[in-house]
Amino acid sequence: MRVFNCHDCGHKMRLTGESCGYCYTRKAWYQQSGVFCSAVALSCVVIGVILASIL
Ligand SMILES: [Zn+2]
Repeated sequence: MRVFNCHDCGHKMRLTGESCGYCYTRKAWYQQSGVFCSAVALSCVVIGVILASIL
């Protein structure tokens, strides 16, 4: 899964790994897989809570 582009070279970066696979620039903090997965998980929980309160 490649969701980010590198800031420096525009290379599409994998979600896993700490740096660009082409120029080896370190990813921004929000592009780190742990942070990204946490954000996705958190938004799923929030959406679930909202749906539960509506239904
Ligand atoms: Zn790069």
